[in-house]
Amino acid sequence: MNAYVASVIENVKAKHASEPEFIQTVEEVLSSLSPVIDAHPEYVKADILNRIVEPERMFTFRVVWVDDNGVPHTNTGYRCQFNGAIGPYKGGLRFQKNVTPSVIKFLGFEQIFKNALTGLPIGGGKGGSDFDPTGKSENEIMRFCQSFMTALYRYIGPDTDVPAGDMGVGGREIGYLYGQYRRLKGSFENGVLTGKGFTYGGSRTRPEATGYGAMYYLAEVLKHEGEDIKGKTIAISGFGNVAWGICKKAMHMGAKVITLSGPDGYILDPEGVSSSEEKVDYLLEMRASNRNRVLDYAEKFGVPFFPGEKPWGVKADVIMPSAMQNDVHLDSAKKIVENGVKYYFEVANMPTTNEALNYLRAQPGMIVAPSKAVNAGGVGVSALEMAQNSEHLVWSAEEVDVQLHRMMENIVKASADAAEEYGLGYDLVAGANIAGFKKVAQAMYEQGIF
Ligand code: GLU
Repeated sequence: MNAYVASVIENVKAKHASEPEFIQTVEEVLSSLSPVIDAHPEYVKADILNRIVEPERMFTFRVVWVDDNGVPHTNTGYRCQFNGAIGPYKGGLRFQKNVTPSVIKFLGFEQIFKNALTGLPIGGGKGGSDFDPTGKSENEIMRFCQSFMTALYRYIGPDTDVPAGDMGVGGREIGYLYGQYRRLKGSFENGVLTGKGFTYGGSRTRPEATGYGAMYYLAEVLKHEGEDIKGKTIAISGFGNVAWGICKKAMHMGAKVITLSGPDGYILDPEGVSSSEEKVDYLLEMRASNRNRVLDYAEKFGVPFFPGEKPWGVKADVIMPSAMQNDVHLDSAKKIVENGVKYYFEVANMPTTNEALNYLRAQPGMIVAPSKAVNAGGVGVSALEMAQNSEHLVWSAEEVDVQLHRMMENIVKASADAAEEYGLGYDLVAGANIAGFKKVAQAMYEQGIF
């Protein structure tokens, strides 16, 4: 490893000892960058790496809300404006009880490179709260969102920072957040958030975009391998918005999604979750219920449920972890390899521990694709929503879909080309890190030292 790269990783480990997720993503990204740094001594001279691992700014705020019994609760809100070199900060808000500064920072860091890969002018940011939506009523969610935005609104804006959804924040929450923003600002402000409803500036295909984009990416890689997506079986984890988009597109493409998972365990549907619209749409109902469990699916459709287990021992052609970070550890990775899986595609942000990821990448013949590329279609369509809002126009679903499809093809190509340029072969993981980094590093370099 290049000595400068190694020294920056060591700095981050020493400085952020209590932030394991942040250290993990920095190690993962930077360990791909040695050949680029070797070729660009000017980046060392301008100390690009120590600068890129430091958020431009990050703040926390108090969010107090009153439950349905009149009892006040206090949560912490976060926004990390990580890197704005190529455009306004852009990234989701996550509401989940295990949200910490480390989680927000890892997500913000990933977002920098993901957003660069979309080819659109968006910088990296992320935010959220340790608020747990599980079991909350509609009114409690609304009051929480209003209180959260009352604290956040002064830091965001259409040219400054454009938040969106992430885990625990879907169309409903975006509506409440946007409503409060508009109440406070008294103007449209180009919609300021993305993932809005279609009646007030949301983009067609945004709800499906992450899942659709992941499937377009998969189809593109399969094409490179001379294979067809039709008839492929896919094991996924999660059952949220992203899983829903994957199932919907799998249905169109003739692929079969056979698993879903939640905190309670996983379900196996040999016919395919993607076999009927009723099943696919039931995912939305499960998520909106705030019960946060997949047992409901097993009961409704009479398929096996495996309590407390993850779906990684299931035989499938493609594995797509689509739930949350560190979902796949080394023991699961070994099961995946034993099952002879060729395609391991991350969809959730950082779903694989570094140990498991390195193990999978080292398997001859296995193709591993990184989340920051595979799931970039979501934020990519968010950038298209920003474009529509600033032009006061509405594009059709077909127009958005054509652009999303092209964006995903370009991401696969840019990643493959970047890896090729540095003699790494068809390495989509290193290629995505290199292609994303080069764009942001060059922008930082040209803007001078600060
Ligand atoms: N939270 C999503 C992500 O991880 C979407 C962000 C956005 O649309 O701004 O990329």
